[in-house]
Amino acid sequence: MAQVKKAIKYVYYFGGGKADGNESMKNLLGGKGANLAEMAGHPNLRLPVPPGFTITTEVCTAYYKNKKKYPAELQGQVQSALAAVEKEMAKKFGDASNPLLVSVRSGARRSMPGMMETVLDIGLNEKTILGVIQQSGDERFAYDAYRRLIMMYADVVMEKAGGIEPKNGKGIRKVLDEKLEKVKSKQGYQFDTDIKVPELKALVKDFKATVLKVLGKPFPDDPYEQLWGSVGAVFGSWSGKRAIEYRRIEKIPDEWGTAVTVQAMVFGNMGDTSATGVAFTRNPGTGENKFYGEYLLNAQGEDVVAGIRTPAPVNDYSKNDQSKHLPSLEETMPEIYKQLFEIQNRLERHYKDMQDIEFTIEKGKLFMLQCRVGKRNGIAAVKVASDMYNEKLIDAKTAIMRVAPNQLVELLLPMLDPEVQKVTKPVAKGLPAGPGGAKGRVVFSSADAVEWAGKGEKVILVREETSPEDVDGMHKAQAILTTKGGMTSHAALVARGWGKCCIVGCADIEIHSETKSFKANDGTYIKEGDWLSLDGTRGLVYTGSMALVDIDLDDNAAYRNLMKLVNKERTMKVRTNAETPEDAKQALKFGAEGIGLFRTEHMFYGEGSEQPLSLLRKMILSKTEGERRQALKELYVFVKKDIKATMEVMNGYPVTIRLLDPPLHEFVPHDVAKLHELSKELHISMNMLRRRVLALHENNPMLGHRGVRLGVSYPEITEMQVRAILEAAAELTKAGKKVLPEIMVPVTCTVNELSHQKVIVDRVYREVCEKMKVKKIPYLYGTMIEIPRAALRADHMAEVADFFSFGTNDLTQMSFGFSRDDIGGFLPQYMDLKVLNDDPFQTIDQAGVGELVRIGVDRGRSTKPNLKVGICGEHGGDPESVKFFHRTGMNYVSCSPFRVPIALLAAAQAAIEFGKGK
Ligand code: PEP
Ligand code: MG
Repeated sequence: MAQVKKAIKYVYYFGGGKADGNESMKNLLGGKGANLAEMAGHPNLRLPVPPGFTITTEVCTAYYKNKKKYPAELQGQVQSALAAVEKEMAKKFGDASNPLLVSVRSGARRSMPGMMETVLDIGLNEKTILGVIQQSGDERFAYDAYRRLIMMYADVVMEKAGGIEPKNGKGIRKVLDEKLEKVKSKQGYQFDTDIKVPELKALVKDFKATVLKVLGKPFPDDPYEQLWGSVGAVFGSWSGKRAIEYRRIEKIPDEWGTAVTVQAMVFGNMGDTSATGVAFTRNPGTGENKFYGEYLLNAQGEDVVAGIRTPAPVNDYSKNDQSKHLPSLEETMPEIYKQLFEIQNRLERHYKDMQDIEFTIEKGKLFMLQCRVGKRNGIAAVKVASDMYNEKLIDAKTAIMRVAPNQLVELLLPMLDPEVQKVTKPVAKGLPAGPGGAKGRVVFSSADAVEWAGKGEKVILVREETSPEDVDGMHKAQAILTTKGGMTSHAALVARGWGKCCIVGCADIEIHSETKSFKANDGTYIKEGDWLSLDGTRGLVYTGSMALVDIDLDDNAAYRNLMKLVNKERTMKVRTNAETPEDAKQALKFGAEGIGLFRTEHMFYGEGSEQPLSLLRKMILSKTEGERRQALKELYVFVKKDIKATMEVMNGYPVTIRLLDPPLHEFVPHDVAKLHELSKELHISMNMLRRRVLALHENNPMLGHRGVRLGVSYPEITEMQVRAILEAAAELTKAGKKVLPEIMVPVTCTVNELSHQKVIVDRVYREVCEKMKVKKIPYLYGTMIEIPRAALRADHMAEVADFFSFGTNDLTQMSFGFSRDDIGGFLPQYMDLKVLNDDPFQTIDQAGVGELVRIGVDRGRSTKPNLKVGICGEHGGDPESVKFFHRTGMNYVSCSPFRVPIALLAAAQAAIEFGKGK
């Protein structure tokens, strides 16, 4: 017996309280189609949605596979769905006396705003227009719809989808638009709505003739030809240039395809009892639980988007400076407003998230045209999540997952006024190294930054790159802009640590130091003292002084509420990288649970560093061990004071203090004037000084005499630091404070280095206990894992180390062989060409560097099952990386104070997504 092949369903109907599909079918029906089906057919909703049907994404895929041919069954299925729409609307497509008009719209799984095509008013021709006039009693409306159809159809279907290249770059839409504008200016009309019937009639005639002349084909009169032409054009727009480019950026697979929704037209432009609008169930700017929206009387959806007329507020709450004089929908159509209010309420309860809705009112009757999850900024995201949890609409886990960790940045820092940004063009773009917004007058040296700031000026420091010598100026500046360097360059690292706005690797500008000026690629010329505004969150540079908006976290009850949930959910701890009591306090306020990296060398940079830096230089340039020990003895006082102050603030939380890491030459000045000063200060001849400085020179300092290698060459340096740490700890303990210092050895590659340093630590420990008359000082001894070999030999390293902290900055540098300070030269190109998808210094490279981390954790714990493991590279504040570290079973991540909230949230999300730890 012949098998009856079950026909594939390609067309899904919705309308009249029923729907073939629902919200869960986004992959098949696209976001728009699935939500229309849900709104129309779900028993909780059954909203007034104009009837229609959705042609599935499978048709799109098949269409492309079969050389742009539709599956054979499609025509019949469309025909019967159209018949159902006709029945529901009691109108007939193509009928002369009672015609149905439809729209054809695209809808992918994920919204691709503005990337694909739409055609409205399909079904209008010389015959049906008479029916429309009769039914609507509005000739003006009918001809207005007709001229819109011709314009849209000629543009979308005949020209773009037909592959016609516009002559001199001027498309048919523009040609027709100019004709419309000509009529308006001739008659002195301000708005399209001012155009009278005879003029519209003439325009329609003119449009048709122009289409024939320009495109070589007549505008089709047959409604079915219009319908299928439009469906084909929407499918065609999936492989339009814009859409392909957008998918590449948003990583949307080409195979997904778009759905096409054909829907009965309803009209917001049928006079003053008609309107169209867009609204949000809550305020998307603040998150406040208030219905918020705008509408236009006597208009079609595209008029709201085009922004020609100022939309009116739906209610008092939605009024703004531009719209406050306009009557609200609540005032003009109170009954409709009541109905709309009730519907938006129902939609939000149903979807359990803030919705963005589109509606149309046709002659006093409300229709819902679209709903989708509403986009919101960081402040609103936190407020909505926290409120919805309080309202018992969502549970704690859902609330936590609703906020993207990076959105929290917006709560922590001032930012450029988004309204001003919307209408301003940036002059250059670089890497977004330090988030938030800032404005100031341009200076080109650290010294100028200090001087100008001293006079009360707000400045932005613009440099090719920065070095530790610039720290003072960087600190005084509102923001830092560099033309070179990557996300872990000196400028980026320092700025992020301070929560300062910073853009690095901005190759769009070229600095001319002789004239104290820079020129941007777009020709903009900026000289010292000119105003500049930076958006460090997105890496955008603007000229002039833009407004900033400030946010205070302490007043943010929603944030506090959300963080309470976060802290209950997460299993991984979050520490901070900090070296001063101020930073430590800030981090504690943000919820840090310890210091994961105290970089000792910090005390030699910036404000108040003159004395310790001079002693350090003395130590570095000493010739004998005796001289060195003398200098160290004096330096010790400063080191101890610094460590003690921070440890005291941390009050019982662990504080990981790293022994001196940078190559010594970094602390020695290189310009002649400074060398002269130093020679006087240290009583060394210039010749001798030059020789000693030269001896410190290295060709490849990052791989040179640094980290533990210094401690092996000069054990007295380690000794001094360990003494300072243990004495500070003993003194604080005696004073009744709780402390837990963790002594960390940097840049190790073999356990022998650790053993070598441990002998020193053990000896000093005994000496300090004796001196301070205490039996015990709590401390741990551990190492950074930042050389690939150390990760591979982690089982051996763990024989001596009590803890590991992964230094993923150096580990990335040494795994990739990319210098962390020089990637600006090639990384942007690597990303453009997709040689690399992400900056590995920003997001951990899970496949390579991540594998070393896994190996390190596992091998370390194979020796010591309870080995404490954390990470203190910049990746500790990157949400994706934090989630990865959670999966490796780390005890904590450590990041700059301003990234602590982000890491806390990411850790909670990881626990929800991947289970509670390994
Ligand atoms: C690292 O290498 O990841 C690290 C934290 O150390 P630094 O950035 O100071 O080299
Ligand atoms: Mg390092």
